[in-house]
Amino acid sequence: MTLQQLKKTLSKKQTITIFTHWSPDGDAMGSSLGLYNYLKLGKHTIRVITPNDYPDYLHWIPGNSNVLDFQKEEKKALAHIQKSDIIFCLDFNHYYRLEDKLGAIASKAKGLKVLIDHHEQPTIAADYVLHNVHSSSTCELVYDFICSLGGKKAITKNIANCLYTGIMTDTGSFKFPSTKAKTHRVIADLIEAGAENSKNNSLIHDNYTYDRLKLLGYSLYEKLNVMPEIHTAYLGLTQKEQDKFNFKKGDTEGLVNYALSIKEIKFSVFFTERDGKVKMSFRSKGAFDVNKFARKHFDGGGHKNASGASSKLSLKQTIDKFLKALPDYKTELTRS
Ligand code: 5GP
Ligand code: MN
Repeated sequence: MTLQQLKKTLSKKQTITIFTHWSPDGDAMGSSLGLYNYLKLGKHTIRVITPNDYPDYLHWIPGNSNVLDFQKEEKKALAHIQKSDIIFCLDFNHYYRLEDKLGAIASKAKGLKVLIDHHEQPTIAADYVLHNVHSSSTCELVYDFICSLGGKKAITKNIANCLYTGIMTDTGSFKFPSTKAKTHRVIADLIEAGAENSKNNSLIHDNYTYDRLKLLGYSLYEKLNVMPEIHTAYLGLTQKEQDKFNFKKGDTEGLVNYALSIKEIKFSVFFTERDGKVKMSFRSKGAFDVNKFARKHFDGGGHKNASGASSKLSLKQTIDKFLKALPDYKTELTRS
């Protein structure tokens, strides 16, 4: 369908579901709630549905009380999905990113599908697609989407705060190569529309518990493996180690970037035992493509410089598999 047709559909009252991916991050929540705050102006009946919970430091985002966590409120979520006329998929593009049960429900849902996303190689066939791998974030795409539907003037302070937050988190505070001149222009528009840039930064980055800081110290001092000869660093944390620091969702967010901050390191990996699986985060500086690496070895995906995957092997077996694959990349990683 065309944007005009979608616009016409949205000019009537609709029941709408907004889905975002498993373990939502700042971009997932910022884009979903930014879109929610916009669509709400059209008097639709809307729920943002997440497959599971997300960190405390994202719960302040405007509109948060509208969110249904599928793990906690399955029945309510299911009833809403079944009566939805329109289903938005934000910041993911494979149903499996909603995990098995919700992924199957979403793929079978009869509502009109709209996909807004910036990850590589989508597999969700949607009726309307706004997909751009060069976009810094899904929030930047939601900004474009709102502008093309209602114009810049439609962006309220709440929408601006949501979208600002996701662009900031997905660009690593505007430092990743995905940050373009346009990203800064969008940010300028959002600040003019009322986004509280400094306050939002603090709410995300100066909101650690003391335990989280201690876990960071422990991870870097005791657990980080640095392999300068292959420009790679990795670290793995067991569930038990995390429990020792009263682990709460989000406490290891950004750890993988510390490994990458070492001068000669171009490839960093973080492994963690989570929800009975091992979750991996891959990051790179420069040309090394961690999306390809995650895809090839662990059925994962994401972007060239930031990707992820999960494994049903044990933590040790997963790390061993990674270490076995690594030598094949020595030439690529040692190239200047
Ligand atoms: P993170 O390491 O922050 O969890 O994820 C980094 C990037 O990789 C994000 O853009 C995220 O959407 C993507 N990603 C994380 N885990 C997976 C996964 O299991 N499969 C796929 N396809 N992408 C993932
Ligand atoms: Mn994103």
